[in-house]
Formats: sequence, C-alpha cells, structure tokens
Amino acid sequence: MKLVGIVGSAKDNAPVRTLLKFMQKHFADQAEITLLETRDFPMFNESNDQSETELFQNAVTLIEESDGVIIATDEQNRTIPSALNSFIDWMSFNLHPFEQKPMMIIGASEDMNGAASAQIHLREIMDAPGLGPIVLGANEFVLGNAQDKFDANGDLIDQGTIDFLGSCLKNFIKFASIHAGIAVEENVEFEPGVYEVDAKGHNGDFKVKVTLSKDRIEDIDIDTKSETKGISEPAFERIPAQILAGQTLNVDVVSGASDTSNGILDSVATAIKQSGGDPDILKKRPKPDANAVALPQEYNVDVAIVGAGGAGLTAAASTLQANKTALVLEKFPSTGGNTVRAGGPVNAADPEWQKQFAALPGEADTLKAILDTDLNEIDVEYRDDFVKLQGQIKDYLDGKHDYLFDSSTWHEIQTYLGGKRVDLNGQEIHGNYDLVKTLTDNALDSVKWLADLGVEFDMSEVTMPVGAKWRRGHKPTEPLGFAFIRVLSEFVKNNGGQILTETRATKLLTDENGKVVGVKARNASGQEVIVHAKAVILAAGGFGANTKMVQKYNTYWEDIDDDIATTNSPAITGDGIELGTAVGADLVGMGFSQMMPVSDPVTGELFTGIQTPPANFIMVNQEGKRFVNEYEGRDVLAKAAIKNGSLFYLIADNEIKKTAYNTSEEKLEEQVKAGTLYKDDTLEGLAKQLNMDPSVLVDTINKYNSYVDADHDPEFGKNVFDLKVLHAPFYATPRKPAIHHTMGGLKIDTKAHVLDAQNQAIKGLYAAGEVAGGLHAGNRLGGNSLADIFTFGRIAAKTAIAESQSVELDATSGPSED
Ligand SMILES: Cc1cc2nc3c(=O)[nH]c(=O)nc-3n(C[C@H](O)[C@H](O)[C@H](O)COP(=O)(O)OP(=O)(O)OC[C@H]3O[C@@H](n4cnc5c(N)ncnc54)[C@H](O)[C@@H]3O)c2cc1C
Repeated sequence: MKLVGIVGSAKDNAPVRTLLKFMQKHFADQAEITLLETRDFPMFNESNDQSETELFQNAVTLIEESDGVIIATDEQNRTIPSALNSFIDWMSFNLHPFEQKPMMIIGASEDMNGAASAQIHLREIMDAPGLGPIVLGANEFVLGNAQDKFDANGDLIDQGTIDFLGSCLKNFIKFASIHAGIAVEENVEFEPGVYEVDAKGHNGDFKVKVTLSKDRIEDIDIDTKSETKGISEPAFERIPAQILAGQTLNVDVVSGASDTSNGILDSVATAIKQSGGDPDILKKRPKPDANAVALPQEYNVDVAIVGAGGAGLTAAASTLQANKTALVLEKFPSTGGNTVRAGGPVNAADPEWQKQFAALPGEADTLKAILDTDLNEIDVEYRDDFVKLQGQIKDYLDGKHDYLFDSSTWHEIQTYLGGKRVDLNGQEIHGNYDLVKTLTDNALDSVKWLADLGVEFDMSEVTMPVGAKWRRGHKPTEPLGFAFIRVLSEFVKNNGGQILTETRATKLLTDENGKVVGVKARNASGQEVIVHAKAVILAAGGFGANTKMVQKYNTYWEDIDDDIATTNSPAITGDGIELGTAVGADLVGMGFSQMMPVSDPVTGELFTGIQTPPANFIMVNQEGKRFVNEYEGRDVLAKAAIKNGSLFYLIADNEIKKTAYNTSEEKLEEQVKAGTLYKDDTLEGLAKQLNMDPSVLVDTINKYNSYVDADHDPEFGKNVFDLKVLHAPFYATPRKPAIHHTMGGLKIDTKAHVLDAQNQAIKGLYAAGEVAGGLHAGNRLGGNSLADIFTFGRIAAKTAIAESQSVELDATSGPSED
C-alpha cells in the first residue's frame, strides 16, 4: 500500500516529522510512506496561482497515485500551523487531489496535550468545499510532550505507544483497502434534451447549451462573444473537449482562464441538475486521460524562442521573414503573456502625424520646463541630446505653433528622465543611454513594421496611457494587446513557424565552450521537449506575478504586501531570468518594480471601471480630496496613493466617461450592479455611497473645474487638462496600486546580446522584452514597453540570425527622422 505522509509543521525539529519518519521506517513492511513537506510550498496567494508549477504538480501526482494520506499536524495557537493551513488552501484552490482520498489524521507536539485541538480543527477544515477526503473517524493518534518520546535515533521509546500507533495504522490500511474496493463508479441518468444555462465568466455572463442523451453529455455549445479574446479561447476549446471525452466534470481549469473554465464547468453541472442528474457523480469520476508519451520530442531550428508574448512572437516573425526556421516555446495554453493584456498604445515619436493634433493646454509649460533645466542636472551622456532637444523646443515655442510637438529626442529624454530614480539605499539609476536611444530611434519603425504585418492603427487619435507623460501612443483599432498577438501569431503560424504551447522551458543547453545551443522544456503531458538551435532568444517576460521574487529584490518600495495584487498574467514569474542566470547572465536594476496606481483593488486588473487618458483623471482619496498631480509618473502616483491609504477613487462624469478606452455602457452597468463601480445622479449622492462628506467631494470637484478653466492647478501642479466634471451621471471607480512591471532583468546590449558579469556576450543567447533590464531603469513610462518589445524583439532576431550565419550585420534598422 502506498501512503503519503504530510508533515504539518515548518519547524526544523518538528515532532510530527520525527513521528512520520519513524512510521516510514518501522512499518515499512506494511506500507510505503512517502513524506511531503508543507514547508517546501509557498504561502497561499490566490492572485499568484502556482498550481501549474512542477512543485505543485508533483505533489498532486503523488497524492493522487497514493492509496491514502496521513496528515500529521503540530499545534500552533490551538490550531494547525500556518504552513499546513497554506498547503491545504492550495490543495482546495485549483487542484483538489484529496477528493475521495482516504485520510488519517495524527498529531504530535511538545505540549502536554499533544496536538489534540489542532486535530479536531483539521477534521473540520477537511469538511470544507474543494477538499473532500474520506477521513477515518475515531482512530486518533495524539502524542503529547513529544520531545521526550523519541530516542536519539528518532525511534519511539515506549513499546505501548508503538503498538497503539501500529494498530491505528492497521485500521487505516484496512479502511483504505475497503475504500479502494467500494470506489466503483455510479451511473448517471439524464432527461434527454438541450439545456441552456447562463455561465459566469471573467467579463460577465455567457450562454452555454448542453445537449444530454439518457446517460451521456453529447454536446457543449458556448456563445464565446463576451469573454476576453486571446485569453479565454483555450478554456472554450479544452474544457468542453475534456468533459465530452472523459464524460467527467473532474477537469483541471486552464491556467490564466480559471474564471471562464469554472464558468463552463458550473454551467454543465447546472444543466445536469436541471435534467434530473447528479453532477457530483461526474465530479468524482477520474480526470480525462493525459495521453502521456514517454520519448522526448526533439526539434532542430535556426532560432528557438522562449515565450510567446509580444517580444517572442516579434522575434519569431522577424526570423521567418529572414527565411530562417523559428520555434517558440510557450508555457501557457495560449499565446500573449502580458502583451495580450496591454492597453494598446505603442509610444513612438512621429512628428508629421502628431502635427495634425492640437496641443493641449499645459503641454507648453512642460516644454518650457526643459528650457529652464540646468544642464548640470543631466547625466553627461545625455547632454548633447538634451541641448539638441532644447533647440527643437525653442524653435517650436518661438514659432508659436498650436500643434502637438514631438521628436524622437524628446521621447529619448522623457524616457531617461522618467526612469531616473534613487532607491531606498541611495542608489541612483537611469536608463542606459545606448539602449534608450536604440529604443526611441527605432520605435516608429517598429510601428510601421507591425502595420506592414497587418496591425491596423487608429490614426485619427493620438493617445497616451497613465504615466506616459506625452501623447505619442499609436493605438490599434482592435481591442487591447490582442491586436498585436493575433497578427503576430497568425504570421508565425502561416509562415511555417512552430509555437508549442503548454511547453515550459526549464533549462538552456550549452556546448563544451558555454555557447547556448538549445533549450530543454516539458509539455503538459510531462513529456520532455528538446530544441536544438543555432541561437536562443529569451522573451519570457518579467516577474510581476512572482510576489516573492519582487519582494526579494525590492530596493525601491518601503513595503510590498504579501497579498498585493498584480495586473500581470500568472505566467509572468521570472523564468527567463532564472534560465539566463543559470548560464552566467548578469542582472541589472532588479530592485526597481513598478506599481500600477490605477488597478482594481480586488483583482489587480487594469481595465475595469472607467479608465481615461490622465488629462481626465481626477483622483480623490477616501475623504474625497485630491492628493496628487494626476499627470505624474506611475511611481509618484502609487506612492501618493499608498500614503493616502492605498484605496482611492477616479471620479468621472458622463462626458469624461466617453473618453474611456476600456469599456462599454453594458460593462459599466454590470459593474454598477455588482457594486464594483459607483454611479449617482449627483455628486452628493456619489459621496454618500463612498462614505465621504458630500461637501468635501463637491468642493474638490468645484476647485478642479476652476483649475481646468484657468489651465493652472495651484494645489498639485497638474498642467494638462481636458474636461471638467459637470454632467450627470457621476461615477467613482475604486483603485489601488498593484504590481505591474519589473524594470530589472537580464543585462543586454543594443544588439540584444545577453551579457555576463564581465560585460561579455554569452554566445548563442539573446534577450528581448520585459525579461531584460537597463532600459526603463527606475520607472517605465506608460506605452514604452510595447515600443521596447517590438523593437528589441526585431533586433534580437536580426542579431541571432546574423551571428548564427557568422555574418556581422547591422542589427538595427537605422534611426528614424526627428
Ligand atoms: C494589464 C497590463 C496592461 C499593460 N498595458 C501596456 C500598454 O498599454 N503599453 C505598454 O507599452 N505596455 C503595457 N503593459 C506592459 C507590457 O504589456 C509588457 O511589459 C509587455 O507586454 C511584455 O512583453 P514580453 O513579450 O516581454 O512578455 P510577455 O508578453 O509577458 O510574454 C512572456 C511570455 O513568456 C511565457 N513564459 C514565461 N516563462 C516561460 C517558460 N519557462 N517557458 C515558456 N514560456 C514562458 C509567458 O507565458 C508569456 O506568454 C501592460 C502590462 C499589463 C500587465
């Protein structure tokens, strides 16, 4: 009999560990007991789902393949220790390996009463939804004063105790054997028909039609319109296919689309209930076959790319354009990473286009401030360009032009100034001049390259996301980052590129000289995948969804809460940084992460509520008072919000609402109904809903309106305004800072070589996108990351191809005109 012994304590000298080790040794002839340490697992964090990691998957397999589980708990404050509690939370979240598993609870502690209270509590916990073990009753083994009960070899001293423990184990083995014998499948019966059910998805309800025959689920038809394109598709494809193939509801949710997955599973369960069937029987059935294949899959390509986000797909498309072969490894079921979540604007100075748009009041003040800046404040390497910019601004202001000014030099200087920061240790950081200049000189070419590939940009509007500091955003007509990912994925697939989804890169392969010659990966069926390549490009994104890693490196924020939300995809956990450092890559700027000030307070999402360009932001704290210049950079806004209790509100009226780029009237109404967005016909009423003094909010808005009229904000110095708050209904969107971007990463040069600590390129290895550091330094401007990933994705491919052919080509496509 195979049993798993769960060590329910994080302490080094925990008696429960000694007890389980003793059982493992002493009763080896009766059961093979494998120990599982709860302290090896991270603390439970719902917003950072790690269920898919190897650590968790191995634990689940171990438990599922066992005949029973023994949980040995210590006691802490009369209940189970936090390490065990956290482990159980993970097991009830997305994994459910305890379902129908025979379980025995035992306990040991240094306290006189043993872990009796913890054991009682653990039984109650095991009744919670999502766990579902069959716990053996009245067979409690409790060991008090445990420090005195073992000898130096870790063996129980007292024979009576050993005998009692042996009889408990014997009972459990009998219990588990009987269970194995009776665990026969129950049959289901349905009233045949087509059942239409409203499913709850990520963005609201969607309709699911379930066709049932007498004893089978025959078809599941989903109306997919309302869910997020590019994120939900794998759930729409996979969950119904697995339900139908296995005739089971015991199906794993799809990572990154868990709401949609659960929505589908719940809707099929509802349909079964409506037909008179019992969905619980289907929930207890085995999972569908994973079809594991033992032999590794091997590939040979010119360029292997890790990560199918914007940078990776750009590198793949560029490789294919050069008639070379490309293979992309993607750990998630769908392509897109953080790029598919992006708001869309790509920063690129295009002065001829920008001239069509009128300057906004206040923009000239920002330019004048550059003229007034002392050159000594500017780092030496940027000074020539700064002087050049001052000349451009002077010409523009002297010419009394009323159009929107821009130049690639202005973009460069804003990127540099926007990223110049000092951390808590007094360490100054600013963007590497060569990287910044490469970005700003080539961003427009990247936009043109995307347009040639088929991305349609809305040229009727020049826009900027929060913290961009200037209007130079090129926004696609299709929604959000999906526009880029759709076009790039299609290009790659249609031109012979391979994208292996659900295939996680685990190791870079090197030859005897340390040159990178390929990647090792593992796919969803556990099969090893080996890609031999002339060059490898790391494009695995940053580490914003890995709170522990952000905390570990942080030198910028005074405190980062363990349960801080993130705007990132759960896939963004710093794998590329680990892969690179394992072959000697150096890191740069790792202590600097960016918080998105205007995130959803619960989910961390960016695009709920009413998100407008910052000219129309009015941020008020929980008292109803403004607290910052809303046109500031993201870190300034996030710090100000944290100082004001983190939670704050974006106030909008009916006209400001129309400038939002993220929503529709229907979505807003749903959020108002759900209580996640506040709406009222009067500002006073809105204030009351927010528990604010109405006179304070009204006074704040009156003042703000007067500043818009005067083009001058004497309180916080906001200098770019658009609309006043005048027209009912009025809205308040609750917001809170969440981890958004990690500026640090692998050290690269302008040709995207990954560098080691001696600034030498690691042969065969390149990096692009958020996985790389040095460019955005201490703070990234909104809209600069998309420019970065498309520019450096192209550069990485060009360099990789050139060097794998041993031909030195110029990897950049030349500066664009100012
Ligand atoms: C909500 C949101 C909105 C944003 N809006 C904007 C915006 O409007 N403008 C802007 O400029 N920037 C924006 N950003 C930032 C920008 O989207 C990201 O910085 C950028 O998309 C990162 O691109 P990337 O290609 O480097 O990584 P990603 O797009 O994150 O892709 C990395 C990919 O690598 C995969 N991966 C990771 N590890 C492995 C592994 N071991 N094996 C295989 N695959 C792996 C991941 O699954 C992922 O698909 C936004 C970010 C977020 C989260």
